[in-house]
Amino acid sequence: MYAWLMKHLFLPLYDAHLMGRKTLLRVREVDCNQWLSREELEELQWTKLQRLLRYAYEKVPYYRKRLDEIGLHPEDIRTPRDFLHWPILEKQDIRENFEALQSPDYRHLNTIKSATGGSTGEPVHFVYPREAWEWRIAATARTDRWAGWDFGCKEAHLWGVSWDPERLGPRLKKKVHDFLLRRRIYNSWSLTEEVLSRYVQGLNRFKPDVLMGYTNPLFVMARFVEERDLPVPRMRGIVATAEMLYDYQRETIEKVFQAPVFNRYGCRELMLIASECEYHQGMHLNSDNQYHEFLRDNEPVEAGEVGEIVITDLNNYGMPFIRYRNGDLGIPGNRTCPCGRGLPLMEGMQGRLLDMIVTPDGRYVAGEYFIRLLKTFPGIRHFQVVQEAVERLEIRLVTDSQFRPEYLEETRRSLGQIVGARTRIEFQMVDAIPLTASGKWRVTVSRIPVHFRST
Ligand SMILES: [Zn+2]
Repeated sequence: MYAWLMKHLFLPLYDAHLMGRKTLLRVREVDCNQWLSREELEELQWTKLQRLLRYAYEKVPYYRKRLDEIGLHPEDIRTPRDFLHWPILEKQDIRENFEALQSPDYRHLNTIKSATGGSTGEPVHFVYPREAWEWRIAATARTDRWAGWDFGCKEAHLWGVSWDPERLGPRLKKKVHDFLLRRRIYNSWSLTEEVLSRYVQGLNRFKPDVLMGYTNPLFVMARFVEERDLPVPRMRGIVATAEMLYDYQRETIEKVFQAPVFNRYGCRELMLIASECEYHQGMHLNSDNQYHEFLRDNEPVEAGEVGEIVITDLNNYGMPFIRYRNGDLGIPGNRTCPCGRGLPLMEGMQGRLLDMIVTPDGRYVAGEYFIRLLKTFPGIRHFQVVQEAVERLEIRLVTDSQFRPEYLEETRRSLGQIVGARTRIEFQMVDAIPLTASGKWRVTVSRIPVHFRST
């Protein structure tokens, strides 16, 4: 009953009438789009892309300058092959052209500010208008429904919560918001056995319909439940995101919670990129909202081959991300999914190499925590967290002139609260962070395995 009222009465009233938003309209639109044929979706995507390219050239100083420099005009781009000539947008380009990348039409509308530590450990700040946000929320809602979620159902989240000392007002607003949306957040930053035990009890009382979380914390919780043989609530689905999901992790999580795991891939700059449907045959790309390329040396790779992921956000006119290389590697597919959706499949991805950090007093800290913490300091160009021994954490930093030495103490203080006083934190200022053998940057590396003591 509550779910029905939420979906048909409260949300439409709030979204369209009170806030003047179009989120629910977008939800309906993207819901229809998923059932279009592959060809119809490609046509929609290409039309949206061309409109964005023309706009970016006309209005966005950064693109006008870059395209004029190489003598390219949006009208020259008639096929996907032509689009390969459009310059790639790197994280460094965003850092150096933050103003020039914004459209003057949208400057006062670019109200959503965000930042990413990125899966490669290179912080970037960016903005986007509310209308782009509405599309993003709609695309996320579409895939949440594949996992058994719907408006008004109970959702539990096991992921990071902002540690900023927020004022009481916004904090209260968030609490009311979560209460009305029947959402419970379990902070995954520092998982001790005591915390995990509390969370599992909380889940049993709350009885969520779906659980969404960072992959490694979900896995740690599943291992904890398994080793203690604890009861867990019956759920429709579990969404694993933000980190690589390995088969052994999926098996454990599904076995322990007796619910299917839906692997999902996204990044903070673009939010949802791809997600598994109920057939788990790969991840459907969010292709009506983004244009995806999988490249090696600026040439598309074949289906089944690994390529660098390059994405264009088709709805963000405020600060267009066109051919943005986010640093992840993915494998495009060419199979059709039995579900009948026309959204193309990505076979897999290689990225998000985030190990959990284990502390001497038995806490498990998600790798995502370091990304969220370190992006708050200006001047950090690249970082890596390495744990060779349980009591010692090494933070390697590549910095520029904006970085101030006092940030180290601030980092130590914030980090100390999460990893505990028994962990020794050491900083190493380095010139570069080396790549792994597979060509990826590892953001957190730990040699300490996840293992619970039998107490
Ligand atoms: Zn499918």
